[in-house]
Amino acid sequence: MEISDLDHVSQKLLEFKSEYQIDILPDWGEGPDGSWQNGKWLKDELDKLHRFVGLLAGAMGGNANFIKNIGGVQIKKANIGSHGGEAYSHRVSLSEKGPFSAWTIVHELAHAWDANHRWQLSVALEKYTGGYTSLPFSFLKRLLGQRDSGFWKPEELPGRRGRFPGCNAAGYFYGDKPSGSNWSFNRKEDFAESVAMYVGWNGNNDLSTQAHARVERYCLHNGAKDTFFGQVDNWADYARHFYPEDGDYARTKRWHFIDGVVSGKIILT
Ligand SMILES: [Zn+2]
Repeated sequence: MEISDLDHVSQKLLEFKSEYQIDILPDWGEGPDGSWQNGKWLKDELDKLHRFVGLLAGAMGGNANFIKNIGGVQIKKANIGSHGGEAYSHRVSLSEKGPFSAWTIVHELAHAWDANHRWQLSVALEKYTGGYTSLPFSFLKRLLGQRDSGFWKPEELPGRRGRFPGCNAAGYFYGDKPSGSNWSFNRKEDFAESVAMYVGWNGNNDLSTQAHARVERYCLHNGAKDTFFGQVDNWADYARHFYPEDGDYARTKRWHFIDGVVSGKIILT
C-alpha cells in the first residue's frame, strides 16, 4: 500500500464495514520511526477482494443476508504455510505469500459462514446429500483394497490420490456427486467447495471458468491432462462419482442444498 493510495483505501475499508461488516486488519501506516510502512496489502487487492465478497453476497440475496449469515468477520494477511487461506468463526486469514483468487475468498468465507453456525451447515449438507463420516468403515474399505490411494496416505499419481468415497483422512463417504475430492476432503471442505461451485456455476463471474472446468475434466479420457488445473488423472474412471447428470451441476443435491439455504427454502435450526 503506497501512501498515495491512503484516501482510496480508507474509503474502501469503510465500505467493507458498512456493506458487509468486514474488518480488514490494516498493516500499513506510520512505523515506529515515523516513516511510511507499505504493509502486505496492495490497493488493487482490496478492490478485488471487495468485488469477490460481492459475488458471495449476491448469491446470498444481498448484503443484509451476508451480514446475517457470517455475523461479521475480520480478514487479515498472515503467514499460514502452504495454504491459500484459513477460516474460523469471524476470522479469515489469507496467505501473505501470493495473490488470492475469487475461489479462495468464497471458499474461506463459506467456512466462516459454517463456523458461525457451529459447523452445522456442513453437517446438514452431509446429511442432505446422503453422505456419512466413519473412520472404521474407511479403514475397512482400504483394507479390502477398494481404495484409490496408498493405505495410509495418497500417492501423487493418477488414480492414487484418494478420491473415492471414504478414501480420505477423515473417513468421509460423500453422497451424491461433489465436483471433486481428495485426501483432505471432509464435510467442511465439501460445504465450502459447494458454495464456491454454486456461486460460479450459473453466473458469468470470477469463479465460473473454474466451476465449469471442475465438471468438464471428467469428460477427459484416462491419463489426459486437464488444462485448467494442469493435472493428469484417470478422469473417465472418476466420472461416475463426480460428473453430474447431463454435465449440469445444478442437478446435483449439493446445488439444491446451497440454493435452498440461500433462498430460505431449507431452514436450519
Ligand atoms: Zn477449506
